[in-house]
Amino acid sequence: MATQFDAIVVGAGPAGTSAALGLAQAGAKVLLLERGEHAGSKNMFGGMMAYCPAPEELIPDFWAKAPWERAVTKRTLSVAGAGSTTSLTFQAASDSDRPAAGAGSTSDKSLTAFTLFRPRFDRWYAEQAEAAGVTLLTSCRAEALVLRGGAVRGVRVAGPDDIIEAPLVVACDGTLSLLARDAGLHKGFKAEQVALGVRALYEMTEETVDERFGLIGREGATQEFLGCSEGVRGGGFIYTQTDAVSVGLVFHLDSLKERRLPPYELLDRFVASAPVAPLLKGARMVEYSAHLLPEAGIPMVPKLSMAGLLLAGDAAGFCYTNGLTQEGMNLAMASGVIAAKVGAEALAAGDFSAGRLAKYKAELKDSFVLRDLATWGKAIDFMHHDRLFTLYPQVISALMEDMYRSDGTPKERIFRLARRAVSGRSVGVRRILADLIEAGRGYA
Ligand SMILES: Cc1cc2nc3c(=O)[nH]c(=O)nc-3n(C[C@H](O)[C@H](O)[C@H](O)COP(=O)(O)OP(=O)(O)OC[C@H]3O[C@@H](n4cnc5c(N)ncnc54)[C@H](O)[C@@H]3O)c2cc1C
Repeated sequence: MATQFDAIVVGAGPAGTSAALGLAQAGAKVLLLERGEHAGSKNMFGGMMAYCPAPEELIPDFWAKAPWERAVTKRTLSVAGAGSTTSLTFQAASDSDRPAAGAGSTSDKSLTAFTLFRPRFDRWYAEQAEAAGVTLLTSCRAEALVLRGGAVRGVRVAGPDDIIEAPLVVACDGTLSLLARDAGLHKGFKAEQVALGVRALYEMTEETVDERFGLIGREGATQEFLGCSEGVRGGGFIYTQTDAVSVGLVFHLDSLKERRLPPYELLDRFVASAPVAPLLKGARMVEYSAHLLPEAGIPMVPKLSMAGLLLAGDAAGFCYTNGLTQEGMNLAMASGVIAAKVGAEALAAGDFSAGRLAKYKAELKDSFVLRDLATWGKAIDFMHHDRLFTLYPQVISALMEDMYRSDGTPKERIFRLARRAVSGRSVGVRRILADLIEAGRGYA
C-alpha cells in the first residue's frame, strides 16, 4: 500500500486517541488502529482517573463534555486485619451541585478524580478524534513494525501482505506492547515489573450507590485496601460508577506466582469480606475481567523513541501505584498529547530521525509524567516488601482493637499497646524502624 498517512497510531486507548487527535489537529493525516470491535471494547481498569488537564489542550472543556460516571469527592484508605478494618477518609469540601453541574464548572478541579466506564469513555473519545479527521480502523490488529534502514516506516496488520506505511508510528498498544518489543526498545517486562488486576462490576441502582456510599448527585467514592490479598503483595479497590460498583484486586505478578493462589478465588473472598459484602448486598455481577498493568516505575521505562517511532502510555511503562493512588490513565493521556506535539513538529520539519524524536523524552521529563514516576520511585520500591501487605495490617488491626477494647480493666497508653501489637510477631524493633525510615524516604 502506498503511503497514505502521515502517522499511524496503534491502540485507541487514552494514550493512542490523545496522540491521534493531537496529530490530526496539527493537520496530519492519521490512521488509528484498534484491535477491539470499538475503542474501549477490550479496555478495563479499576475505574478512577485523577483529573488531568492534558486532554483540555485538545478539547476545550473536556471534562464538562466527557462521559465520566461520578466526580470523586470521597477517598478512603483502609487497612484490613484478621478481625477488623481501620480506615482514613478524605472528603473534598464539596456541595452536591458541583459535580452535578458538570466537572467543567468545578471550582477546584485539581481535587477531583473521575470514575469512568472505559467502553463508554474510550468510544466517545475516539469519536472526537474521528470528528477531527482521524481514520479509525477497528477490529484491526497491528502485528509488527515495518522497518527499513534502521527506521520505522509503518506497520504490518493481520492478513497476508497487509502493510500500511507512514513516516511516523506512535505505539500505544498497552502493557505488553508488541510493537515496542518488535522495535527492540525493550525485551518484554519481567514478572516483578507488572501487576495483574482482576475486577468485577456489580450493577445496582443509582440511588442504592448513593445511599450505601453516602453520596449526592454525581458525587463518587473510592476505597483502597491494604491487607486484603491474603499474603500476596497487592491491594483491593472499590470505585463507584453511576449505577454500578467496580471491585477488584491488583497483585504483583511475581508474588502471585510465588503463592500460587488463583486470583479469581482471592477476588471472591474479598467480595465476601466484612468491609465489602454489605456494600454489594443484592447487587448482580455483570462483568469480570483481568488485565496486566505496569508497576515498576522508572526502571521499567524503555527507550521511548527511535527513528520513526514513539511509545506512549502503558506501552512506555507510564503507570504506577505508590500505595496511596493508582495512576496510569492521566499519564497515558498526557504522554499521548506530548507524542502528538513532538510528532507534529517532526512532520512539519520532515525529519523523523532518532535525534529529532529524542525530543519526546526531553518533553516528558519536563512534564508530570516522568517527574511523578521519579518522585514516587522509592515509594514504588517500598511497595515490594511483603510485610506491608501481611504483617503491618495485622499489627495496625491488633493495635486499634486494643485501643477500642473496653473490658473493665485499666486503660494503657498507646506506646504500650503498640508494643503488645508487635510482640510475638516475626518483626523486631530494628526492622520496624528501618521500614519507617524507608517509608519516610519514599513519601516524605
Ligand atoms: C485492574 C486495573 C486497575 C487500574 N486502575 C487504574 C486507576 O484506578 N487509575 C488509573 O489512572 N489507571 C488505572 N489503571 C491503569 C490504566 O488502565 C492504564 O494505565 C491505561 O489504560 C493506559 O492507557 P493506554 O492507552 O496506554 O493503554 P490501554 O488502555 O491498554 O489501551 C491500549 C489499546 O491498544 C489496543 N491494542 C493493543 N495491542 C494492539 C495491536 N497490536 N493492534 C491494535 N490495537 C492494539 C487495545 O485493544 C487497547 O484499546 C488500572 C489498570 C488495571 C488493569
